[in-house]
Amino acid sequence: MRLQAGRLQQTIASCIEKTGTALHTGKTTTVKIWPEFAGAGRYFDFNSNSIRASIDFATKVSPLCTTLCKDGRSVRTVEHLLSALEATGVDNCRIEIDCSDDDEDDCCAEVPIFDGSAREWVEAIEQVGLTVTTDRSGNNCEQLAPFLNEPVHVWMNDSFIAAFPSPEVHISYGIDFRLVPAIGCQWFSSIPLNDSFYAKEIAPSRTFCIYEEVEQMRKAGLIKGGSAENAIVCSATRGWLNPPLNFPDEPCRHKVLDLIGDLALFARSGSQGLPVAHIVVYKVQTPKDLETGGGGVVVAVAGCYGGFRLCGTGWGDGVDRGGVAFDIGGFTMAVYSCCGDRDEWRLWCCDGMMGWTGGVEP
Ligand SMILES: [Zn+2]
Repeated sequence: MRLQAGRLQQTIASCIEKTGTALHTGKTTTVKIWPEFAGAGRYFDFNSNSIRASIDFATKVSPLCTTLCKDGRSVRTVEHLLSALEATGVDNCRIEIDCSDDDEDDCCAEVPIFDGSAREWVEAIEQVGLTVTTDRSGNNCEQLAPFLNEPVHVWMNDSFIAAFPSPEVHISYGIDFRLVPAIGCQWFSSIPLNDSFYAKEIAPSRTFCIYEEVEQMRKAGLIKGGSAENAIVCSATRGWLNPPLNFPDEPCRHKVLDLIGDLALFARSGSQGLPVAHIVVYKVQTPKDLETGGGGVVVAVAGCYGGFRLCGTGWGDGVDRGGVAFDIGGFTMAVYSCCGDRDEWRLWCCDGMMGWTGGVEP
């Protein structure tokens, strides 16, 4: 069990190297993951530029993936890799990204998609193994985890995200694609989440897309590297186009995978990002949402590190498409919101929204 506070900080025992195609840019990309000292946390490194895997650098507009951006350089589609690192207990590592054909656009890197799941990352981590890491002075560092003192929730119509105090990490997720009957309504609930459950039951679940939306995404310049090899594709009228599925409820499990990857962005200095809580998420995609491509929702799970208290959930005025800002002890603010055009939850950063106040005072 690695998803609990009370252990020492870890890193990978040796370097991981993997090459694959990036989903949105279509480029061939090599990722090398290196061991790091305790306290360094997880960070991306490309073209001599380093970006911490932190909510502070998550971009607000990032269709269909989570993007980190700093000083004009960005790394896209980080969520599946970060999900695997967070869930398996790789608290500290340097993630080096190298695009082989990066001549015209070397300010944007993207993590390869592989089969659309986190399976390859988890297998690579299992292969090299984990080791306790010390800080630069040789001291062991305790791994801290965020936790909740009281339930928090945000909802709109019948969509919500809630988190309840719990001694273990537990995630329950519901989706409802009523216009795509082969997906329909699905619920997935983890047992207390540990690394072996994650590796077997969550990591192999692949990205899914709706066939009728694919053309729209291509026109928007997205999914240049998309193919039947890196996503499961479902048609509203014809059902799954490239079966078999790895699980009957694979789409819902993939949402859990993405959620863990996004919450990993709350990790600081080798601590855990995923709150120790029972997190319950439910999003209905109504026919109206599908027609208008709109309808954003939501938010907020956050906990506290040590003595910091969660201080807010609620609706953020002026946050486009709905969303909320919350403050972890003055330490960071974040918006967790639904992208709207798909049934997709994403963390957005909150630059320029610092004036929002609401929710429970610390
Ligand atoms: Zn995903």
